[in-house]
Amino acid sequence: MPCSICDDTGWKAIESDGGRRVVRCDCWRNSLAARLLDNARIPPRYKRCDLEAFVTYTNEKLLSAVRQAQRFAAEFPTPQKGLCLIGPPGIGKTHLAVAVLRRLIIT
Ligand SMILES: [Zn+2]
Repeated sequence: MPCSICDDTGWKAIESDGGRRVVRCDCWRNSLAARLLDNARIPPRYKRCDLEAFVTYTNEKLLSAVRQAQRFAAEFPTPQKGLCLIGPPGIGKTHLAVAVLRRLIIT
């Protein structure tokens, strides 16, 4: 079924500053995000990772890691600093890395 807004052209007209112009349709953005997520080849067990679901157990180091991951995602593509995740196995480094990747693709 074609998009009811753009009829699958991927563009929609909007009113802007007293005139009309065209911008990408939501269906195009959604399909782009789906393709990018698919191309990211995130393993199934990590497909639902997000920054909000990360359990920190009120551990200050984990809370700090989440804050830094959120900052990195918010500042992307021009973050002030990179993101380096260090810690023992099972602490959540992959979860945070995938969560940042997913946020950058979806938003
Ligand atoms: Zn559309």
